[in-house]
Amino acid sequence: MLKVGITGGIGSGKSIVSNIFKTIGIPVFDADQAAKKIMQENEEVKMQLIDEFGKETFINDELNRKYLANIVFNDAYKLEKLNAIVHPATIKAGNDWAEKQKSPYVLKEAALLFEAGSTTDLDFIIGVYAPLHIRIKRVMERDNVNRQEVLNIMNKQINDEIKMKLCDFVIINDGQKELIPQILSLHKILLEKAKTK
Ligand code: ADP
Repeated sequence: MLKVGITGGIGSGKSIVSNIFKTIGIPVFDADQAAKKIMQENEEVKMQLIDEFGKETFINDELNRKYLANIVFNDAYKLEKLNAIVHPATIKAGNDWAEKQKSPYVLKEAALLFEAGSTTDLDFIIGVYAPLHIRIKRVMERDNVNRQEVLNIMNKQINDEIKMKLCDFVIINDGQKELIPQILSLHKILLEKAKTK
């Protein structure tokens, strides 16, 4: 089975593209969602988080996201520590999940595939691209946040122009180019690739 990553900066349209793949029967693993679940439920990960960031990381067994976000947002070293705890468990969860799927290929959706160094076990990477001004507008509307808040998140992600160069395929989601034909033609290519794997 082929494992295909799908990435792109916040607001590029990863979720929309993933949902279209789902509707044509391709299973999608949401790595960002899985990472959140792991931080909340995986006892070993929880222990490591408390060791690294202190008891305040959990309040009544609930992950204190605000506290953790505050720490890692202002400290790249701490962010790396957090990733080193959460990413290996997320990659393992993704691989365990993939083994259970019955499909010629599966997708793994993550905003930070490259940043997390989790591309090694993937056969291909799809990038979803939209120009910056469109992404900012989409996220402001979707998450009801202001421009600066969006920019703060974007500043933690690799520039999308660079990110797309690292991808094997790029889907343009600029609101002009139609999405579905691009996805269907990529689907065809991936089914062919899966035959020879
Ligand atoms: P990501 O998962 O990459 O952060 P989403 O798929 O959630 O991005 O898209 C961000 C927002 O923009 C969502 O509210 C989504 O509905 C909207 N959006 C994405 N692509 C398009 C599009 N082609 N046309 C209109 N709205 C779009």
